[in-house]
Amino acid sequence: MHTLRDASILLFLFFLIILFYQLHYKSELSIPIEIPILSKSETFKIVSNEYSSLWYQKYCFKNKLSQKLVLENLPQYLNNARVSTNKICQQFATKFDALFRLEEIYGLLKLSPVYLNKINQWLHNDELLIEQIKKQRIIKIYNRYTHEEMLYNYMRSQRPQTKNEISPEEYTSKLLQDSKKNCDFCSKNYLNSTAEDRFGRLEHRLSYTAANTFKYDRWHTLVVSRNHDTLHLTEAEIVDMFELVQEWLHKAYSIEPMYTCPEMIWDAMPKSGASQMHTHLQASLGFDIYYGNIERTRQGARFYAQRNNGRNYFNDYLYIHQVLGLTIPIGNAHIIIHLTPIKDLEIMIMDEKLNKNFYKALHLVLRTFVDDLNEYSFSFGMYLPPMNESSADRHEMPVVCRLVFRNSVTNLRSDMNGLDLYTSSVIGKDRYVLYQQLKEGIEKRQK
Ligand SMILES: [Zn+2]
Repeated sequence: MHTLRDASILLFLFFLIILFYQLHYKSELSIPIEIPILSKSETFKIVSNEYSSLWYQKYCFKNKLSQKLVLENLPQYLNNARVSTNKICQQFATKFDALFRLEEIYGLLKLSPVYLNKINQWLHNDELLIEQIKKQRIIKIYNRYTHEEMLYNYMRSQRPQTKNEISPEEYTSKLLQDSKKNCDFCSKNYLNSTAEDRFGRLEHRLSYTAANTFKYDRWHTLVVSRNHDTLHLTEAEIVDMFELVQEWLHKAYSIEPMYTCPEMIWDAMPKSGASQMHTHLQASLGFDIYYGNIERTRQGARFYAQRNNGRNYFNDYLYIHQVLGLTIPIGNAHIIIHLTPIKDLEIMIMDEKLNKNFYKALHLVLRTFVDDLNEYSFSFGMYLPPMNESSADRHEMPVVCRLVFRNSVTNLRSDMNGLDLYTSSVIGKDRYVLYQQLKEGIEKRQK
């Protein structure tokens, strides 16, 4: 009898423990981490603006059309729009101020005659620059919702640089050639030197998948181009990689539909942190939420909608950059030279979905950076709208990729420091200068 009673007690305790764990696990998962989407929230939609950037420049910013826009004058453009009697100009200023905080700061320097002499040498006796260095103007732009920030000081780009011993171009082409000799990803080598996902390997004519041997998530794969040279892919090779990514995402999602958040990264050449020279994207599917940096943007966008009558953050973000003349459209895909880059050479591409315009924009941007600006290493991050949303009723989030070139490839000094990593991005290159360089590169290739 005693044994039976003891067994019943033990069984009861066992069930209690199971129940406790179930409840505990359930309550942890049910903690709301997301800002709710308002029912009146707008979705993302590319619309053509009624007025061009040139119209805004003339009537809102009071900038003569013969004068190029410069980032240093952004506070002035904004002030002119704020005090304008034109409603369209006021609307722009209101949207800008809702999303960004803009400040103008002066940093003063006291220079001893000896040190001034040294600075004169650095700046090649340029009197204007010497005056500017004594009273430095810093433009601070803060995104109120993603908390990204840029501290722009033109004088930072004038800092003395260490000279490269070897040309970045020679270094890069030698590295690409040497790494081709024993490459695990080239020709058929991958069949014996890479792992497969649990549903096997997907193969396209120009690319294939290989499971990452060192995973950072449950659903995480490599999409490898059959072209070793990551800096000189054709548009067709880029298209093929991204189509294979989408095929892999759908396959993984069909097996485990609770994994809904698609993300991609791509590092090219060692300066960016790439461990393999051979072209390879990494795709992953997140459970319920995106990775932290992307989720911060998604949650920020929802908070923006809450505080701004349901307006879509991404619509307004794109509109602000269009008005400021910092976007290059390729069909509906928009290249954005955005106001809060992680580093000087970062751009963004935004569209409603992945399509041929998006691939074309990416290809044109890569060609301009590599062939015209002689930049040879980049990091790339991208997200797509969640897999469980139907594209028929449009998405809260657009398709966005961010791409930053990491210079200089032969310089031992890192391109990012404590400031960039832990405080704010410090930028020395005018966003309008990068815009102009990309625009020229893209236009000549489209002719
Ligand atoms: Zn290779």
